[in-house]
Amino acid sequence: YVKARGKDGYRFHSKTMRRTTTHRLRMERDLRLAMEREEFQVHYQPQVCAKTHRMIGVEALVRWQHPTLGLLYPVDFLPLAEETGLIAKLSEKVLSHACKEVGGWIAAGHPDLRLAVNLSPSQVEHPRFVEILTDRIKANGFPKENLEIEITENVIMKDLEQISSKFRDLASSGIRIAIDDFGTGYSSLNYLHRLPIHTLKVDQSFVKAIRSGDEGACIVNAIVAMAHGLKLEIVAEGVETGEQLSYLKQLGCQQVQGFFYGPAQPASEINKILDSKDRRLAYPCMN
Ligand code: C2E
Ligand code: MG
Ligand code: MG
Ligand code: MG
Repeated sequence: YVKARGKDGYRFHSKTMRRTTTHRLRMERDLRLAMEREEFQVHYQPQVCAKTHRMIGVEALVRWQHPTLGLLYPVDFLPLAEETGLIAKLSEKVLSHACKEVGGWIAAGHPDLRLAVNLSPSQVEHPRFVEILTDRIKANGFPKENLEIEITENVIMKDLEQISSKFRDLASSGIRIAIDDFGTGYSSLNYLHRLPIHTLKVDQSFVKAIRSGDEGACIVNAIVAMAHGLKLEIVAEGVETGEQLSYLKQLGCQQVQGFFYGPAQPASEINKILDSKDRRLAYPCMN
């Protein structure tokens, strides 16, 4: 499928191209250069309270402004960054950038604004992960209570013992922990009440199933009911339609994220929302 388009309108089929060695080598070289040339950008997707339409926080999502291929999305370069070990440096840049930018918004009159950042498996698996993360946050003067890190289930299940101690350290420092893409990984429900987790993010594939007659929607019911029982917060990802939004609200799932309210956007667009009354988002007409 077409993921990005160069300036010249040249179409870039990421899946096919990623397989070719020359392309791989070129992307690897470009990725290294991109670090020095500051070609990475951080976009922010609003996390919204469906009841009030208020922006609760933002999720930082990395983009790469490639000199010839145009704006690239994580699917085009994160796997390569992970394989080549460049992910650590990239993540550090994203985190610092987001901490500075969102930290500025928090200080400028939005003390309750939340920043959600995605962490890659190799970051979390690093033995000094907690120390590295908290040092970076401190260096950028970001309030820990406003940070929520997003981790997938697979990372947790790989080494439950190590993860438990890391999560306990994080939680006691005030940092919030969210399970991303919940329900799609290899997991055991057993860890949910044993680890200091704050939020479950319902994967978008389950939200997509909210359509009349699709049995897949009952998975959303089950996840929301479980989250309520365990007193976890819940964020639904990939909410695109008014129908999905009403369904989720009816279940008692208030926090949502998705194209219905808007995609990840540059900081300048988020600034407009911050300036609006009660940080309320304009939303498409529901019928
Ligand atoms: P994720 O954390 O699950 O992020 C949600 C993805 O769904 C984002 O894709 C977002 O743009 C997209 N999305 C949001 N709303 C909708 C919607 O209504 N419909 C549809 N179809 N999609 C929607 P994106 O930005 O391409 O990121 C993909 C993945 O890459 C993320 O999944 C996350 O796992 C990873 N990622 C992104 N930025 C970073 C980063 O800075 N560091 C790390 N380690 N991973 C990142
Ligand atoms: Mg995420
Ligand atoms: Mg997700
Ligand atoms: Mg994901």
